[in-house]
Amino acid sequence: MPRPVRVRIAPSPTGTIHLGLARTALFNWAFARRSGGRFVLRIEDTDRERSTSESEQEIIEGLSWLGIEWDEGPDRGGPFGPYRQSERIESHREAARTLLEAGRAYRCFCTPKRLAELREGQQARKETAAYDRRCRALDPAEAAARADAGEPFALRFAVPPGETRVDDLVRGEVVFQNVDIDDWIMVRGDGNPTYNFVVVCDDAAMEISHVVRGEEHLVNTPKQVQLFAALDSRPPRFAHLPLMLGGDRKKLSKRAGDVSLEDYRAKGYPTGAILNFLALQGWALDGETEVFSTRRFVEAFRLEDVSKGGAVFDADKFRWLAGEYLRAESPADLAGHCAPFAAAAGLLDERQLTERAEWFEAVVAGERERISLYSELPDRIAYLFAADDAVAWEAKAEKNARKQGGALLAEYLEWLRPRLTGGVDAPALREATRAWIAERGAAFGVLFQPLRCALAGKAGGPDLFDIMAWLGGEACLRRIAVAIERLAAVREGER
Ligand code: GLU
Repeated sequence: MPRPVRVRIAPSPTGTIHLGLARTALFNWAFARRSGGRFVLRIEDTDRERSTSESEQEIIEGLSWLGIEWDEGPDRGGPFGPYRQSERIESHREAARTLLEAGRAYRCFCTPKRLAELREGQQARKETAAYDRRCRALDPAEAAARADAGEPFALRFAVPPGETRVDDLVRGEVVFQNVDIDDWIMVRGDGNPTYNFVVVCDDAAMEISHVVRGEEHLVNTPKQVQLFAALDSRPPRFAHLPLMLGGDRKKLSKRAGDVSLEDYRAKGYPTGAILNFLALQGWALDGETEVFSTRRFVEAFRLEDVSKGGAVFDADKFRWLAGEYLRAESPADLAGHCAPFAAAAGLLDERQLTERAEWFEAVVAGERERISLYSELPDRIAYLFAADDAVAWEAKAEKNARKQGGALLAEYLEWLRPRLTGGVDAPALREATRAWIAERGAAFGVLFQPLRCALAGKAGGPDLFDIMAWLGGEACLRRIAVAIERLAAVREGER
């Protein structure tokens, strides 16, 4: 019988958002949207020491920034709350009692010392380390009496004999032999429940229909399937997404470079590019099209199409995608996305950004072909904000300028002076300047290279006359005058 689609992500709030979590969130969300189901955010904060509310906030804020939306969660409630695992402790205790009474779990009084000795012995004999199930044989009444007398104990799951089959939507049927599974701990001696136990309690209580998560959790799945059965609860379908691998084909980790969503946000990757890139980590639209919208992804996404093999992280492709998305933005959007980076670099404050919005939009549009990330903008346009007598000259720009010399530039300055009094009309000035050069029988570069160096200190960039319009007449004249001096001064020194 099909059941209503309900999926979830269950991140532990113990750090930043790893790209793996962002991908899991995206796939769950797409699956829920495509099948008309519900997507749940559940915060798995059972590790009290490592969990922080800042991290929970960061998860909520980061995923929202990406545009991934959940229907139920700690921030918006829902019919299956609470959505923070630590607030569901009562239901976990209840499940533990039920399992204990049914003989599916048992109290283990083995001390840490005994367990350590057991492990050492197994290691010495080169056996797999596993609990020898000594306490499973205890008479339940005796175990209850010892617990009542205050003896500390952990609660273990009594793994049944036989085998456990998981019909994974990505990996197909996976069969686990139960003898290979330890009688694992559900609740520790200190009363803290473990992941495998609570995740099943909560998935069962929240009527989760599909568990879509990273392949690293496949080893946990037989334990969880057995627990669903022990709780008399219908297990969800499972879909394990391939590991995201670094260039070294090992699990993507900090060693290999930036792995947290925040890193890419700080570098100015467009959200569309991030979503598109994540969608490609284990899934493909048609094997050819690499740039596609999130809407198209949602329309086409099926869990059955997710690949089994590891998805290798390709940083160059990610950057390339960023450029594709950045260039596809409207000038106003692009300016809006670049603005915080320009402000952080100290180029314009918020008031100036508002007052000079049109100007900034034009400047940003002029650079769009030369940047792939929003964060690359400030460096490209810093020259516009430099003092006119202190424009930094890049080596290549200076070399080009010196090759041509400043003679024509000096002549041009005199011609230009009266023509800039009423502001800079870029198209008119472009045409007039070209005619002026042609009259002199000179190549354009003889003027344009020193002029570009004078105005921007760069060898390449946007149209020169656009730059002049952005700078304004006064600044242009001053920069050109300074450049003529600079070019002359060193030439004298060279003699
Ligand atoms: N807290 C686990 C994780 O973030 C949840 C795994 C699961 O989805 O079952 O890896």
